[in-house]
Amino acid sequence: MAISDSLHVTKSRIAAACVAAGRPADAVRLLVVSKTFPASAVREAFAAGARAFGENYVQEGLAKIDELADLREQLEWHLIGPLQSNKTRPVAEQFDWVHAVDRLKIAERLSEQRPAGLPALNICLQVNISAEASKSGLLPGDVTALAHQVAALPRLKLRGLMAVPEPGPGALAQHQAMAALFDDLKAQGLALDTLSLGMSADLEDAVRAGSTMVRVGSAIFGSRG
Ligand SMILES: *Cc1c(COP(=O)(O)O)cnc(C)c1O
Repeated sequence: MAISDSLHVTKSRIAAACVAAGRPADAVRLLVVSKTFPASAVREAFAAGARAFGENYVQEGLAKIDELADLREQLEWHLIGPLQSNKTRPVAEQFDWVHAVDRLKIAERLSEQRPAGLPALNICLQVNISAEASKSGLLPGDVTALAHQVAALPRLKLRGLMAVPEPGPGALAQHQAMAALFDDLKAQGLALDTLSLGMSADLEDAVRAGSTMVRVGSAIFGSRG
């Protein structure tokens, strides 16, 4: 399928999931995950109307941002993969969003390194909602404290939470647990608007639970092989 067609199919899936959940059709943003796909694929998705792109690996993302410099003003680049403290500077300088912050030290570095001439860097905290030892992200019980610390840092804008729930019978419950954490933080007075939840395989569960941004790669670009 052409990228423009699969993009359209994905948007229809999101819209249908919104209707099924009784949510407005524009309640959920689409982040197109371009990891492992070339800049030419991003260009094709851009031509079909996509504007927000997600990358997992810092070097690959930076290379693509550079290759697509002519479109920079029109694109929004999101780092969705883990970030090590020795790689924060180019991320603070080049990306618009970072979704996988799970330590204060990383947030502090991003805050210090975000150039003064740019808008605040948008941040989501990654939550290890399945509480698996192998996964990155904060444990649910540690989210509140870090959220308040990150919200207080200059040059950053805490937008919300991100997670990658484990597929399987318990998946919907994990999506719902994320939505509950997100609502708790908002009830504590944090001005958050982004629950980054849902991928190609589980975006319906995510939208049903309350996701405001789904991160979709393979359903748009094909399998990563
Ligand atoms: C790869 C990836 C995605 C997209 O996954 P698909 O199954 O290809 O839609 C979303 N979020 C994260 C964190 C990823 O690593």
